[in-house]
Amino acid sequence: MSAPIPPWRHIDTILFDMDGTLLDLHFDNYFWRELVPRAYSARHGLSREDALALVQQKTDEVYGTLDWYCLDFWARELDLEIAALKRTITGKISLRPNVERLLRALWDTGKRMLLITNAHPASLEIKMNNADIAAYFHRCISSHQLHLAKEGHGFWEKLRQLEPLDPSRAILFDDSLPVLRRARQEGVAHVYGIRKPDSRRPALTHDEFPMVGDFADLLPGLGGKVKVRSQNEPEPAP
Ligand SMILES: [Mg+2]
Repeated sequence: MSAPIPPWRHIDTILFDMDGTLLDLHFDNYFWRELVPRAYSARHGLSREDALALVQQKTDEVYGTLDWYCLDFWARELDLEIAALKRTITGKISLRPNVERLLRALWDTGKRMLLITNAHPASLEIKMNNADIAAYFHRCISSHQLHLAKEGHGFWEKLRQLEPLDPSRAILFDDSLPVLRRARQEGVAHVYGIRKPDSRRPALTHDEFPMVGDFADLLPGLGGKVKVRSQNEPEPAP
């Protein structure tokens, strides 16, 4: 079942996560489960299996914190050039299906468009330099700028100090369940998950939130037909 069309008329600010939402999570899964263990095993003289187990143990220890997403932390922790390693596989950076069609249609409505990611600023830069979608966003924000991961308590209040949005008129698309839960707890009115963040892995099965299978499903009603209110114009009756 596809997700219901968001009530765009009641939405002023559209927030997209990056990895697993706009971009195929295959890049990140390949990077952390294949490339990093391989590089670690070569550098530290461990078997691939031991290197993979060690990297997983270390990542489990900081899951859900900003360190989990921090390239500097991992460069220190693993003694590897993490950002440089990422640049060796930029060919694997790819957009999820129909992302650009939806971004273009939403951009044309004139609503506020934000990319909001837990990715480290260096990661964000690598991805945006290779994905060609930055022009669809008024702002790209890394949670590292706020010193708090998106799943962290009080994230949305902190974000509003940087970007004065009204959560009751905002929509978030994100593939992370803890991030979706936090957004809902902190008052974001419309919260959508992603059915298949990694094109090479099985789809997610939870139905706690409306789940987007294909962004093209959200296109009906857009394409220049959405009425965008000016600031002083009263909201029409539903
Ligand atoms: Mg994500």
